Amino acid sequence: MTIKIELDKFHCKGCGACEEMAPDIFRMDETGEKADLIQEEVKDSSEVEQAAVMCPTQCIEISYNHQGEEGKKDA
Ligand code: SF4
Repeated sequence: MTIKIELDKFHCKGCGACEEMAPDIFRMDETGEKADLIQEEVKDSSEVEQAAVMCPTQCIEISYNHQGEEGKKDA
């Protein structure tokens, strides 16, 4: 299973929670006001799921890819 991550930068308010939860996946951009995705696909969902739950504007979306079948889960 792979996990695809999408980040809605428009709604990101730059709180930094995602970077704190999953620094391998998210990083604040050069302005420090928006998060950037470092990885768009990961194998371990735990960190990114926590980040998605912590995000105050719910702008992190996760899609699960089970052996070719895609399932979507709202963060
Ligand atoms: S947790 Fe959400 S609002 Fe906060 S920096 Fe990350 S993506 Fe932006």
